[in-house]
Amino acid sequence: MEDIDQLERIYLDNNATTPVAPQVMETMLPYYMKFYGNPSSVHWAGREVEKAVSDARLQVAELIKAKPEEIIFTAGGSESDNFAILGSCDALSGKGSHIITTAVEHPAVLDTCRYFEQRGGKVTYLGVDRRGQIDLDELEQAINAQTVLISVMWANNETGTIFPVAAIADIARRYNIQFHCDAVQAVGKVPIDMEECPVDMLSISGHKIGAPKGIGVLYVRNGTQLNPYLHGGHQEGSMRAGTHNVAGIVALGKACQLAQQDLAKNVEHLRQLRDRLQQGIVASISDVCINGDQENRLPNTLNVGFSFVEGEGLLLSLDMYGIAASSGSACTSGSDAPSHVLSAMAVDKLLLQSSLRFSLGYQTTSADIDKTLAVLPAIVDKLRAMSPMVGDEVNVTNCTYVECCIDH
Ligand SMILES: *Cc1c(COP(=O)(O)O)cnc(C)c1O
Repeated sequence: MEDIDQLERIYLDNNATTPVAPQVMETMLPYYMKFYGNPSSVHWAGREVEKAVSDARLQVAELIKAKPEEIIFTAGGSESDNFAILGSCDALSGKGSHIITTAVEHPAVLDTCRYFEQRGGKVTYLGVDRRGQIDLDELEQAINAQTVLISVMWANNETGTIFPVAAIADIARRYNIQFHCDAVQAVGKVPIDMEECPVDMLSISGHKIGAPKGIGVLYVRNGTQLNPYLHGGHQEGSMRAGTHNVAGIVALGKACQLAQQDLAKNVEHLRQLRDRLQQGIVASISDVCINGDQENRLPNTLNVGFSFVEGEGLLLSLDMYGIAASSGSACTSGSDAPSHVLSAMAVDKLLLQSSLRFSLGYQTTSADIDKTLAVLPAIVDKLRAMSPMVGDEVNVTNCTYVECCIDH
């Protein structure tokens, strides 16, 4: 594997994590050795750091048009998801114990819901169509008198499919049910406005937007019923005890400020390169299928099924060329289980194990895309030549790259 160091590396796995942005790094570094105080201390060392934490809180709030007191710093997206689900179900246990979510959520939501079921709760997992979309009527029909929470992500990490969050929030409002939204993949890629969109709780993760790993936010709208998650201190309005991760908080604030300032530019950049990659693949490789919603999709995400090829094999071959992509989410890769997201979309068996996710970042260049397109067709050809799957009776000739291809 030493050879990879000699190669130019191409990183197309930004939905798994992103590099820390240079401006973010520069902003956070002084908070390790120079400004080392505890923001809860009353002396000079605490005060200068407390100011940095509240400035960062403002920067996060501004990005999503929230009030600063509605921002709770956490240790990342997974904690925020756990906090929102368990904390609000605890607070509302007198009303009922039914959650509505989708079959395509991140494991941080799905496994938390399963844990809630083990403790006696009821959970409805809404199915999705071929684009990965839920049906709003089905959502409404799933609501009952016991329903205390709806949890639906803003955008899916594997396919990029964007959900109708404003419409879901309106339904939740109408039935007086709290709505949590995992927006980890949406932040910095789509506009998010808590004044316009009545979401009650929203999860954000630093390391998906150019801040370090281990810092995140749970936005909690004023008036939301939510129990504290960590006990032991008065930090974050006594909702989340623990000495602040000051450098991480400062970094996340900066990353949010950059995301807000550069949103239009970033979206345009990501979309152009992603579309170029998609068009290049479709033009040079036969029998491929684009998974996900072609209209409502994150600008940086491309999930492609390469029929007759094992996704894992393709991933390893690309890795030998220094190209990092992903099969499924980082949490499920390494296991042989097919993606729960593609499975829920009823993607054809032939393509389930053949799908790869390319996720671009702000730092991705057109040269990265060109180099990927330069090697990918030959890799797929080579793998297909060895594949026992080639010639399987499944007909892919009516495969269209615009929608998922094989009729079922
Ligand atoms: C990465 C991710 C998470 C988990 O965030 P961490 O900060 O890594 O804990 C949650 N939800 C989605 C959609 C993600 O992509």
